Amino acid sequence: MELFNSLSRKVETFVPITEGKVGMYTCGPTVYSFITIGNWRTYFLGDMLVRTLKYLGYEVDYVMNITDVGHLTGDNLGDASTGDDRLEKAAQKEGKSALEIASFYTEDFYKGFADLKLTPPKQWCKATDHIAEQVEMIGKIVSAGFGYTINDGVYFDTKAFEAAGNTYGELSTLESIKEGARVEPNPDKKDPRDFALWKFSYPGGREFNPEVDDAASRRQMEWESPWGLGFPGWHIECSAMSQKYLGEQFDIHVGGEDLKSTHHPNEIAQAEAATGKKPFVRYWVHGAFLLVDGGRMGKSLGNAYRLADLEERGFSAMDLRYFYMTGHYRKQLNFTFDGLASAAKALATLKTMVVKLKQNEAERTVLSSEKLNKIDDFRERFLSALETDLNMPEVLAVVWELVKSNVPSKDKYELLLEFDQVLGFGIGEWEEQAIEISEEVRNLVEQRKQARMVKDFGEADRLRQMIANLGYEVEDVSAEESVVKRRT
Ligand code: AMP
Ligand code: ZN
Repeated sequence: MELFNSLSRKVETFVPITEGKVGMYTCGPTVYSFITIGNWRTYFLGDMLVRTLKYLGYEVDYVMNITDVGHLTGDNLGDASTGDDRLEKAAQKEGKSALEIASFYTEDFYKGFADLKLTPPKQWCKATDHIAEQVEMIGKIVSAGFGYTINDGVYFDTKAFEAAGNTYGELSTLESIKEGARVEPNPDKKDPRDFALWKFSYPGGREFNPEVDDAASRRQMEWESPWGLGFPGWHIECSAMSQKYLGEQFDIHVGGEDLKSTHHPNEIAQAEAATGKKPFVRYWVHGAFLLVDGGRMGKSLGNAYRLADLEERGFSAMDLRYFYMTGHYRKQLNFTFDGLASAAKALATLKTMVVKLKQNEAERTVLSSEKLNKIDDFRERFLSALETDLNMPEVLAVVWELVKSNVPSKDKYELLLEFDQVLGFGIGEWEEQAIEISEEVRNLVEQRKQARMVKDFGEADRLRQMIANLGYEVEDVSAEESVVKRRT
């Protein structure tokens, strides 16, 4: 398959380290608040890649982390070694413990993950469950001569790393990585680009001292380490956990495009400094951001929508899944509710047509060689779109062409079921949902259809409301056709 590699900045042919197997890691969420539809777009990219690789016959070892400690707010300014711990800050704000915050948002994340039918990794790993591994890796980095201790923590020594013949920041498109972050650098650092591997709770790594330290602002999450009491820097967890589960070198690493500037270059530096092996990861895959109404999505802008916000407006997670497929992962995708409504409508139409196919199953005829060729042709085009750097809009185009083609129903349905290994809509379950609709609702839908045919829209609206009261939603696909789905 052809895949764009951010490291070489080129589309490359994917060749795994071990034939037939792929090791893949996606940077997961920091669980201090709700996951947005922007975040989900990046996890959806991971899902598309895993599903495609599996469809191509690879065995995929998929690992994803949960950042439940130590991600500092200074990262917004380009320096992840400064500012407050996002989790501790959220805990103070919400009056809960840091652990409660992390487990609440982790559960919400798992729920959304399942609703979107994202392929779960073989291994979920939490930063707080892997403190020992992180400490061990920092130890290796320090022993190799690429780490040093100052008053507020242990830092990565980028100059020493480069002096040993390594390149720092190769992946980054950020010119500033070469001279350091936008914030005032800690003057004790040897180089402004150096970043924290381990942060101390108190200066020099000492313990809490009730005589000088404020008990109210005492950290909830802190651990002993050979350098002193503290907590891991944000970047170290991904290097340590990915190597633990996937080995010192593995195939693919996925994340949003923002991580290309510092988080991922730092992951590379740490991993390669600790093991001396290059490259740490062969293919770096980054997804472009989701925009909202043409601009940045942000909590302060009030447009950082969650899945629950979409559901409140009558959309399902599958509608969003379809919407994501309408854009190529390397291009920014603009979210609007109109765009989501179009996706929902397309998905509803697809559903109606597929349910009909299923009902026509008996229709199977002896296939002429012309139709058999067609099936192979559709499969080939579907595969080729996927293999061309995950061209999902083209994949959807092939699906629609297939649905509208003269391939016999049963064969069409079977091919769609096969494609659903990648599409992940749950096509195999579609019929049962249609059957769940009661006689009463069916009658109302039929009456509404009659009303629409005679253009009595007032009556049609009244019937729509009655259907809604019974917990169903009716959507008009064309002048004659409507589809009904359960309200979520
Ligand atoms: P965070 O929890 O902020 O570390 O983000 C988790 C993941 O979501 C990272 O891979 C980010 O790159 C990604 N991400 C954040 N905002 C967006 C967005 N608007 N569109 C796509 N991905 C995003
Ligand atoms: Zn990461």
